[in-house]
Amino acid sequence: MKILFASAEVAPFSKAGGLADVIGSLPKELEKDAQIAIFTPLHGCIDKEKYGIKELENSEMWISFGGNLQQKFNLYMTKLPGTDINVFFIKNDWYFTPFKEVYPKYLDPRYEHERYISFSLAVMEYAKALNFRADVIHANDWHTAMLPLYLHSNYKFDDFWKNTKCVFEIHNLAYQGVWFEDVIDFANMRKDIVYNQWGCEHYGRVNWMKGAINYSDRVVAVSPTYSREILGGEYGEGLDYTLRMSQNKLRGILNGIDYSIFDPKKDKALVKNYDIKSLELKDENKKAVCKYFGLKYNPDRPLIALISRLVGQKGIDLIRDMQWELQKLDADFVFLGSGDEAYENLFIWLSNNTSNIRAYVGYDAKLANLIYAGSDFFLMPSKFEPCGLSQLIAMRYGSLPIVRATGGLEDTVTGYPLDNSNGFKFWRYNGWDMLGAIKCAIGVYQDKFVLDAMRKSALAADFSWKKSAKQYLDMYREITGIK
Ligand code: ADP
Repeated sequence: MKILFASAEVAPFSKAGGLADVIGSLPKELEKDAQIAIFTPLHGCIDKEKYGIKELENSEMWISFGGNLQQKFNLYMTKLPGTDINVFFIKNDWYFTPFKEVYPKYLDPRYEHERYISFSLAVMEYAKALNFRADVIHANDWHTAMLPLYLHSNYKFDDFWKNTKCVFEIHNLAYQGVWFEDVIDFANMRKDIVYNQWGCEHYGRVNWMKGAINYSDRVVAVSPTYSREILGGEYGEGLDYTLRMSQNKLRGILNGIDYSIFDPKKDKALVKNYDIKSLELKDENKKAVCKYFGLKYNPDRPLIALISRLVGQKGIDLIRDMQWELQKLDADFVFLGSGDEAYENLFIWLSNNTSNIRAYVGYDAKLANLIYAGSDFFLMPSKFEPCGLSQLIAMRYGSLPIVRATGGLEDTVTGYPLDNSNGFKFWRYNGWDMLGAIKCAIGVYQDKFVLDAMRKSALAADFSWKKSAKQYLDMYREITGIK
């Protein structure tokens, strides 16, 4: 079976969030059962030398878009580290090469649409040129949501693609790719087929995600709870009706993490490696984190971490609401994140004006791993959370998550004081409820027996890809009929 993955980001080459981790790790688990190709843009931030990314011979291709605009593309390739999987990077000097970030801020939305339309069309053309006749195209989030639409319109009667099925995966329903009708002309897409309420038209605008939901053979949400939540108005982001209509093809499959990458026993970012049998060594990392942030190390005082994109979804508002209360707690906090300016400013202010809160505003993967290892608790007060990988990584490093029970957080964290609990939960989106859960965690910290048991159940939990990869494979088999 041949599977084509298309994604805006792929770890370790380019990463802004959890999507990259998923595309960089799920294919590894599928490799023995399927032939896989991954397509992603060659962003300006990708280090070609480091990963041995080379241009393919005679790869230049010109594609024309609406208004007869011609764009030049080139194709680069390397293997996904540790595997035999081909990763193809599509290069375009107008849309992708100039940017050092995967998602640059302040782009003109129309230009943003053009970037991913051109990428998606180039994926279709290059796959054909490479003779990679995929049995399934697995598209992810709005950036590649055009693929099922192309497959259903322009390429519907193309012999090459006629047997290809499509899976569309929703990693985050909040970003849908909405713009005016004229982007369809730019995309050279058959408007007569796709621009209606059963396609991608949504309240008089183009909505790529709606189109992808309507035209895919299966729609996957990244956790069972999220797949139920999005059917209602509160989490449905205006697409709940479309999703309810597509319930028969909607699945909720939990993300996993790559246990060979996130491994406290081997991780080079740590000052001291440890595992379930040598948990006491974790404290050396706590000392290093305290030193880095200028906090006084105190084994009797818990260290609570937060590592996140700083956007509304992540519940930073609750931290803002509770900032005075947090300062009174017998605990230290370290925050690592970047994103919306208001939240960044809040973190900088707290870092400069409190005795127990420190922040690093920016993106630093190595520091993130050290913090996972050095912290006692990991705070994730998300307003909504499709799956969430950070809490899985935290548990893998023995840092107990304190979470709002929504989406994947509800599915993966067992809240104290249940059997085998591995974290703390609160339910209502409310600062006081979050504070209650934090206070509960601080209380448990003083009971070393319970703390140790909880850490051990967090470390023993299995969130690797094994189980979920099988669910994906079964789904591919179901839609293609290939055994
Ligand atoms: P999302 O995909 O919504 O951002 P996830 O929890 O699924 O959230 O994944 C976030 C990933 O990005 C985690 O691996 C987390 O460690 C990482 N991450 C987020 N912000 C930063 C940051 N500022 N520096 C380093 N890593 C970060």
